[in-house]
Amino acid sequence: MKYIQLCEVYENLQNNSSRLKKTEILAEFLEKLKEEKNKQVVYLLQGKVFPDNSEKEFGISEQLCIKALAKSSGISKEKLVDDWKKMGDLGEVAQKTIDKKKQNTLFTKTLTTQKVIDNLKRLPELEGRGTVDKKLALISELLTSAKGLEAKYIIRTLLNNLRIGVASGTLRDAIVQAAFKPKTIKEKKELMEIVQDSYDKATDLALVLEKAYKGIPALKNTKLIPGKAIKAMLAQKAVSVEDGLNKVGRPAIFEYKYDGFRMMINKSESGEIKIFTRHLDDVTLQFPDVVEYIKDHIKLKSFIIDSEAIGYDPKTKKYTPFEAISQRIKRKHNIHELIKKLPIEVNVFDLIYYNGKSLLDEPFEKRTKILREMIKPQKYKIRLAHQLITSDRKKAEKFYKEALKDNQEGVMIKNLGARYQPGLRVGHMLKLKPAENELDLVITGAEYGKGKRVGNFASFILSCFNEKTNQFVEIGKSSGLKEKSETGPTFEQLTKLLKPYVLKEKGRIAQIKPKIVVTILYQNIQRSPTYKSGYGLRFPRIIAIRPDRKPKSIANLKEIDHDYKRHELKIHY
Ligand code: AMP
Repeated sequence: MKYIQLCEVYENLQNNSSRLKKTEILAEFLEKLKEEKNKQVVYLLQGKVFPDNSEKEFGISEQLCIKALAKSSGISKEKLVDDWKKMGDLGEVAQKTIDKKKQNTLFTKTLTTQKVIDNLKRLPELEGRGTVDKKLALISELLTSAKGLEAKYIIRTLLNNLRIGVASGTLRDAIVQAAFKPKTIKEKKELMEIVQDSYDKATDLALVLEKAYKGIPALKNTKLIPGKAIKAMLAQKAVSVEDGLNKVGRPAIFEYKYDGFRMMINKSESGEIKIFTRHLDDVTLQFPDVVEYIKDHIKLKSFIIDSEAIGYDPKTKKYTPFEAISQRIKRKHNIHELIKKLPIEVNVFDLIYYNGKSLLDEPFEKRTKILREMIKPQKYKIRLAHQLITSDRKKAEKFYKEALKDNQEGVMIKNLGARYQPGLRVGHMLKLKPAENELDLVITGAEYGKGKRVGNFASFILSCFNEKTNQFVEIGKSSGLKEKSETGPTFEQLTKLLKPYVLKEKGRIAQIKPKIVVTILYQNIQRSPTYKSGYGLRFPRIIAIRPDRKPKSIANLKEIDHDYKRHELKIHY
C-alpha cells in the first residue's frame, strides 16, 4: 500500500472530531486491509510499528528529527528550529520544508507503508557505536522519498505524537464495523465485547483484525499466553472509605496500597519466568532475585500474577518509598551488588492465569482465594497483599490507618465479583490515599508549548528559597494547567504574567526572573540529583497565582528538608 493513502486517512481523522465519523473513516480504511497479507499497517494507525505488547520504542528525539530534516532538505537546523518555535509542531515544519524542496526536484520514489514499517522497525534494534548516524540514515532515507504530507506523519510517528485523536476503543469499534457490519445495537455491543476480549488476551490489534476477518470463532479462540505482556488493570479514585464502599458495593475487599512499582510476573507453559512493568517493559534481567523467589515459593506449571514490588532498607529492614528502589528498574549491570543494597519484597495481589487457564473472567473473590492458596509467603521475599473483607466502615477505616502506619500509601478497595479488565481504569478497583500537600514556590523558568499551546508557556520550573545562600533553587517542574479558567490559572494567564520577566531564551526554554509566586499541590518530596535544591517534587500542580506573596517569603530549603524528613518518618513509623 502507498504510504500517502494512509497519510490521507490520518488527515481525514485529524479533521473530523466526532468519534462516529472517525470510526467510519477507520472502518473504510481497514476494509482495504482485508486482502493484504500483512495487517501491520494497523500499528501505523496507532502511531507504532509494533504491537501493544511490545516494549520496543523508537527512542528518537526532536533534535534528531531536526538533523534528519536538515539532511534531507538542505535547510539549516537553525531555520528549522525557528520554524518549529513559530509553528509548534515539527510534523508541520517537516511538511512545509519538504513541500518547498519538492517544487525544485522532479524525481521522487513512491513511499510504501511496508518501507516505512521496515525502516522504523530497525530503529530500536540499533545499538553501540555509530547508532545515531545509522538512525539518521534510516529516517533521512524516508524523508528523502517523502512528499510533504508523508514527512509530516513520519516525523509525528517518530515523536510518538500522531495527533489524529484515535483512542484504542475507536479502533476496536472500527474493526467490528469493518469485519461484521452489525445491523442492530445489540449485535454491535456483543461483537464489541468479543473483539475487546480478544484484544485483552492478545494485546495486538493486527492479530485481532486478522481474527476478525476470519470470523467470530477465531476471535473467541484468542488465547492468553503467559510470557507475553498484557496490560495491567488500573484503578479509579475514592475520596474516603465510605465513598469506596458506596462505589464498589458491600462487602468489599480492602488491601494495602503498597508504595512500589508494579510487576506482572509470568511463568510460561515452558517454565520460563518473565517480569513486566506496568508499561509492559520486560525487566526480568534486572530482577534475578524475584525470579528466585518465584521458583522457591510458587510450585505451579504456569501462571500470571499481578503484584507490587517494594523496597526495604537491608540494615533496618524498614520499608522505603518507591524512589529509593526506582534505579533497580533500569540497572542492567552489577545487578547482584544492587540487590544487596536495594532489596525488594514482592506483594502479590491478583491472579490472571492459572495452570493453563485464563482467569480474566473469574470474580476477584475467586482469583484472590486461589492466589492465597498457591503461594508460600515469606517476609522480605514474597507476600500476599494484606487484606480485609468487610462491609463495616469503621473496621475499614482502622485498616486504612494501619496501612499508613505501616508506611504504605493507602488502601485499594475492590469489588468481590469483578473480572480482571486489562488496560482500563475501572470503577470496581479504587485507590484511597491521603490528600496531597501544599507549598508556595516561585517560577524561575518555563518551556514553550506545542500544538495548541504554541506561543504560550506549557511547563514551569519551580524553585524554593535557599536561605543560606540567598538564592532560588529549582525543585520541580509543573505542567497540566487548565486551558480555560474554571479553577486555578490558565497557560495564557501565566504566560502573560511571566513574559516581562524572561531573562534569556534558548530553543523552547526560557529563564525567568523569580517574581511570580504560585501555590502548588504535590504528592511527595524525594531526593533528586536533577535539581539544584537536592530535592524533587513528585507531581507538582499549580493551583493558584499568589500576587499577595513575595518571592522571599516562599518555602525555604529548611522547610522542604523538614517536609521530606516528615514524609520519610511517616513512611518508616
Ligand atoms: P496509582 O499508581 O496511584 O494509579 O495506583 C494504582 C497502583 O497501585 C497500581 O498500578 C499498583 O501498581 C499499585 N498497587 C499497590 N498495591 C496494590 C494492590 N493491593 N492492588 C492493586 N494495586 C496496587
